[in-house]
Amino acid sequence: MDVAIVVFTRDLRVHDNPALATAVARARQVVPLFVVDPALAVPPNRARFLADSLKALRAGLRDRGGDLVIRRGDPVAEVITLATRTGAGAVFIAGDVSRYAARRQQRLNRECAAHRIALEVTPGHAVVPPGDLRPAGGGDHYRVFTPYWRAWQAAPWRPPCPAPSAVDVPAGIGPGDLPGTGARSPGQAAALLAGGERAGLDRAHAWLDGPLKEYDDQRDSLAGDQTSRLSAYLRFGCVSPLVLAREALHRPEGAQFCRQLAWRDFFHQVTAAFPGIAAVDYRPGAAGPRQWSAGAGDLDALDAWRAGRTGIPIVDAGLRQLAAEGFMHNRARMITASFLTRTLGIDWRHGYRHFRDLLADGDVASNAGNWQWVAGTGNNPRPGRVLSPLRQAARFDRDGDYVRRYVPELASLAAPGIHAPWRLPEARRRQLRYPPPLIDVNISPRLSHR
Ligand SMILES: Cc1cc2nc3c(=O)[nH]c(=O)nc-3n(C[C@H](O)[C@H](O)[C@H](O)COP(=O)(O)OP(=O)(O)OC[C@H]3O[C@@H](n4cnc5c(N)ncnc54)[C@H](O)[C@@H]3O)c2cc1C
Repeated sequence: MDVAIVVFTRDLRVHDNPALATAVARARQVVPLFVVDPALAVPPNRARFLADSLKALRAGLRDRGGDLVIRRGDPVAEVITLATRTGAGAVFIAGDVSRYAARRQQRLNRECAAHRIALEVTPGHAVVPPGDLRPAGGGDHYRVFTPYWRAWQAAPWRPPCPAPSAVDVPAGIGPGDLPGTGARSPGQAAALLAGGERAGLDRAHAWLDGPLKEYDDQRDSLAGDQTSRLSAYLRFGCVSPLVLAREALHRPEGAQFCRQLAWRDFFHQVTAAFPGIAAVDYRPGAAGPRQWSAGAGDLDALDAWRAGRTGIPIVDAGLRQLAAEGFMHNRARMITASFLTRTLGIDWRHGYRHFRDLLADGDVASNAGNWQWVAGTGNNPRPGRVLSPLRQAARFDRDGDYVRRYVPELASLAAPGIHAPWRLPEARRRQLRYPPPLIDVNISPRLSHR
């Protein structure tokens, strides 16, 4: 074949990129294309991370004699325009699972067929692609994690694709401008990580050779902040999940880390089978006969939760970390989500949207899958699972350092009092200028003893 087009979406890397590697192997010349799609309103933190990642991808392709061609508009129309212009015989794209991505792929399929262009959908976003594993008892996907994890470990993983040594782009195609490479935009978190393949690989290597060996012990320590922080690099495909899993698996603590990567794949395959996951309860009624709150007082509570001003320090610390960094520790995500849905009784969709708007790693499958899991409407439901903020704080922020880091009003307090400032004498409380708790978490009847 003379010319092929590679459509990059959220696989922004040259290493282990099956769409790119296959196109380069099959065609004499390749057009690496990214289309900025105005239908996807990307919030500031992810827009920044995406811009960094595209810049790095362009640099990686230029190092190989190629380029990244950037266009703006409807991705399907832009692909067909370029294919017609270059006489491309095939289009390569990594298969994706969100409702929007699946529909885009269907339209691309139709238009390619109408123009007699071959479309090849490759793996790339997961270690084990959705649909590769089917439960023995029937069904198109696994609904419960543990059997999925067993099958995932036993599955034959594809070999990684080496980065192409050269990429030859047809002459006369304008590269187009990278999006948003300027100054920090309003709404962007001050302490956001820089995106891109180089930054992601550096972080992955440092992680594998260092803190990974203490992962099991440390991963729930809120103040320790000892998880990989690779989530946004995985979200945008700057790092290949397959290469990461292969590198990690046989190292000390590597299996525990791979288990988390398997959770990511798990929610991918749930979303592929249930594309309404971000809007519709996966198991209607699983959370019990629930009426989510929606009254005016609840809207005030929701605003306080979003602002990190619930008066419960461990909850506020998590939400403020999110605002400051576009990231929140996994344990804090669980505590804040449980507090919103299980303790305040507010619909998980509000929480999902807040996380979606701020997380640099915000991803339909992982975000909605986890929110539904915590709310009790999703996979592995456990109706009575409610996280007590005070018990969680005592276990995972025993010295109060996480709260001290993100809630400066309380920085002068020692543990354990820092986690329950409402117990202080009133005069001292007033000095702190920290809100009273939205709800009495000492005695809330909705709280169990976890
Ligand atoms: C309510 C809620 C919402 C969440 N929303 C997202 C989201 O939008 N995007 C996202 O990537 N993760 C999400 N997570 C999962 C998890 O919190 C983050 O992946 C993790 O905190 C990222 O930090 P890390 O890279 O240091 O994780 P590590 O502990 O180093 O884990 C390595 C990788 O495994 C994957 N992973 C870890 N835990 C999970 C999990 N529970 N579900 C799916 N994948 C996981 C991530 O890709 C992560 O980067 C959410 C969790 C909860 C409870």
